[in-house]
Amino acid sequence: MSAVDADVLVVGAGIVGLSCALFLQEDGLEVTLVDPAAPGSGTSSGNAGIISVASVMPIVTRETLKAVPGMLATPAGPLSLRWRYLPSLAPWLVRAALATRKATVERAMVGIQALASRALRAHEVLVQRAGAGDLWHSKGWVKVSLDRAALERFLASETPALERFGVAHEVLDRGALHDLEPGLSSEVAGGLWLTGNREISDPRAYSDRLAALFFERGGKHLRRQVRGLAIEGGEVTGLLTNDGTLRARTVVIAAGAFSADLAAAAGHRVPLEAERGYHLMLPQPVDPDGRKLLGRPVYCMDPGFVLAPMDHGLRLTSGVELASTEAAPDFAIPRRLLPIARRYLPGLEERVVSEWQGCRPSLPDSLPVIGKSRRHPNVHFAFGHQHLGLTLGPVTGRIVADLVAGRDPGLDLTLYAPDRRFW
Ligand SMILES: Cc1cc2nc3c(=O)[nH]c(=O)nc-3n(C[C@H](O)[C@H](O)[C@H](O)COP(=O)(O)OP(=O)(O)OC[C@H]3O[C@@H](n4cnc5c(N)ncnc54)[C@H](O)[C@@H]3O)c2cc1C
Repeated sequence: MSAVDADVLVVGAGIVGLSCALFLQEDGLEVTLVDPAAPGSGTSSGNAGIISVASVMPIVTRETLKAVPGMLATPAGPLSLRWRYLPSLAPWLVRAALATRKATVERAMVGIQALASRALRAHEVLVQRAGAGDLWHSKGWVKVSLDRAALERFLASETPALERFGVAHEVLDRGALHDLEPGLSSEVAGGLWLTGNREISDPRAYSDRLAALFFERGGKHLRRQVRGLAIEGGEVTGLLTNDGTLRARTVVIAAGAFSADLAAAAGHRVPLEAERGYHLMLPQPVDPDGRKLLGRPVYCMDPGFVLAPMDHGLRLTSGVELASTEAAPDFAIPRRLLPIARRYLPGLEERVVSEWQGCRPSLPDSLPVIGKSRRHPNVHFAFGHQHLGLTLGPVTGRIVADLVAGRDPGLDLTLYAPDRRFW
């Protein structure tokens, strides 16, 4: 190959692309990020900040499927659908329904857990190298409910998997929950405290620190839109962009919910959809002594949203909207949650400081695509981390670096293969 623009070109500078870039640099490689947007400014900026190593269940299960009609019928429910998008979405929905089969759920649990159990170590390396310790917290998150019976049902379905995989947790009755989080209403019946989780108190700042480390080490960022793969004599030699061709020995596709076309260019048809989500930033509720009213992120089960105390306010994150990545945001979706959020946290002020929408990149079996292309072994994939991209970005970066270096990443990569059966 003639002169290259970088050893590795990484498409997409979200948390996944940044993590790949940093772990590749640890191997002494020259890395260029290619993204028209600023690093970490997409979906990776607006999430709830939870390093959710306790999330072992896939998103779509038989229980969720049964609940879908009820969810869609509830205006403030955790799932909404743009009906005009249904014909395009239907094949993904069918595959997601098929992926609730016992064997596929089992594969998903094993696959998520294998990544989650390595996630903290990978974050800790990056947090330490990037000097991001002030953004990293270890209070764990709590899943709470207003309804005792719903909480009991949730615990019955969730705790067996947590016990099986040795995930640290504590069941809290009403009293214990209020000792932990006195700002929550006495209406809240109890909860599940996932004590081993970690929190990032400003996801955008985390990406900024990672990007600063990347640039300090000589990494480059080209603000270009990637349109395809450059292929010469059957071999991938780089990327076709809106501003010319870039050449490299290795290419990593980490473009989040926008990765499917690039995977197709390498010969892999992946059923990737966006589970869109929203956040509202609200003023930080504080007690008379100025302490935050919420000490840790709280998942409010009915109807399903998160309240996360962040460095610059309280973040309310919504459930899932199924719609095209191109559709205009509908901020009525998260705003409907405000009065419900006040039932959980009476000190919450319903004054929206800012609002945001992003796209969780999701495959029907809830597992990401991580690995190399069979057809083009110098093309690597790192996308589809659904609700867990912040959690699993760094471990994904480490695996990609291992693959590029020819090291054994030490886990069964067939679970995440780009040509697996996704349902
Ligand atoms: C409301 C909400 C709450 C969430 N909460 C959590 C949480 O608490 N914990 C957790 O672990 N996860 C959470 N997630 C999920 C997590 O945010 C995502 O999984 C993660 O951000 C995906 O990261 P990414 O790097 O793959 O994609 P992105 O952050 O979307 O980055 C992809 C990048 O690729 C670029 N790109 C796209 N197409 C091209 C192209 N053709 N050429 C060049 N560049 C391109 C984009 O500009 C973008 O910068 C949440 C998501 C949402 C929406």
